[in-house]
Amino acid sequence: MSEHHTKVLIIGSGPAGYTAAVYAARANLKPILVQGIQPGGQLMITTDVENYPGFAEVIQGPWLMEQMKVQAAHVGAILMSDTIKSVDFSKRPFKVIGESGAVFMAEAVIIATGAQAKWLEIPSENKFRGYGVSGCATCDGFFYRGKKVAVIGGGNTAVEEAMYLTNHASEVTVIHRRAKFKAEKILQDRLFNNPKIKVIWNHKVEEIVGTEEPKSVTGLKLTNVSTNEVLELLVDGVFIAIGHRPMTDLFKGQITLDEHGYIAAKLGCTETNIPGVFAAGDVQDKVYRQAVTAAGQGCMAALDAERFLAAKG
Ligand code: FAD
Ligand code: NAP
Repeated sequence: MSEHHTKVLIIGSGPAGYTAAVYAARANLKPILVQGIQPGGQLMITTDVENYPGFAEVIQGPWLMEQMKVQAAHVGAILMSDTIKSVDFSKRPFKVIGESGAVFMAEAVIIATGAQAKWLEIPSENKFRGYGVSGCATCDGFFYRGKKVAVIGGGNTAVEEAMYLTNHASEVTVIHRRAKFKAEKILQDRLFNNPKIKVIWNHKVEEIVGTEEPKSVTGLKLTNVSTNEVLELLVDGVFIAIGHRPMTDLFKGQITLDEHGYIAAKLGCTETNIPGVFAAGDVQDKVYRQAVTAAGQGCMAALDAERFLAAKG
């Protein structure tokens, strides 16, 4: 069993984790970053990224994350392939244990474990994910210029995604399993006033239909939840917007989470309720959820950790 002592331990290797690693390494804090089960984070499961600043041409998500990884390593961050299974934030140095059995003793910890979009968990969704099925309108909406798309869900995210998609798509259909939305009234009013959006109530997705060559979505098979009648809808893209799950199970009981399970960071910074533990990226942000905002918060967390350690001498 190996034991590692570090000034800063970073948990997670998405844009937030790697950016924190770059800043902490350049502050000479010799950070250790534990990559987790998805090295590179959520952008590893997408293709085109067009909104990460600094690249005039479209780049690929996995390529961007490889660059971030190499950059973090170049400036001196120690990258370890392990997944954290338990944390003890009751006293400093914090004791963090990996699935490999490795023990990390850290003066400060940056949590950057991200979030995962919830999916419908039907086989056809899995088949067309990245080929017409998306979990992020801001990321992929641009690819549906002049096309017909559907949004699944009834919360704020679904309504916001639907409205955003009207910037690109010719027609947006929201499909919700109930007869009313959960979204805030003001958002609902905007949606109902948008002539490009129609709503199909009381239906759930039975199957996402598409072609094999090229692999792409052509429509949806829906079922009425009360009558079981089947309805077919022609669409070119489907956006699943049924919520996100922050990756915080590991921290329950150790740190304050909000009512949705996100880490409750103090407004305007990355501090948590435990001095010396910071949180950055999608694990604490349920509003923006973008690579650039996660990276920005990773930078903030490293600067916050540096100041914390400096104050402790
Ligand atoms: P994540 O990227 O979620 O990374 C979390 C990291 O934590 C992973 O490396 C994981 O292995 C690690 N981890 C989790 N648990 C543990 C543990 N117990 N121990 C150790 N490590 C752990 N945003 C854009 O700006 N532009 C886009 O075009 C875009 N496209 C997207 C496409 C898709 C399909 C998806 C799903 C998201 C997209 N996003 C996009 C959103 C963007 O990917 C996220 O906002 C961003 O990745 C969040 O970064 P993060 O570092 O906070 O977390
Ligand atoms: P959410 O509020 O949990 O809503 C999820 C929606 O998806 C619900 O309508 C739910 O249906 C539906 N759903 C869940 N599982 C489903 C399934 N398997 N099949 C079909 N439908 C399913 O999630 P969210 O909209 O992502 O919002 C999460 C949090 O972030 C909320 O607190 C929200 O207010 C916040 N948020 C805020 C803003 C903003 O302030 N502008 C923007 C986005 C998100 P039911 O209604 O039947 O449960």
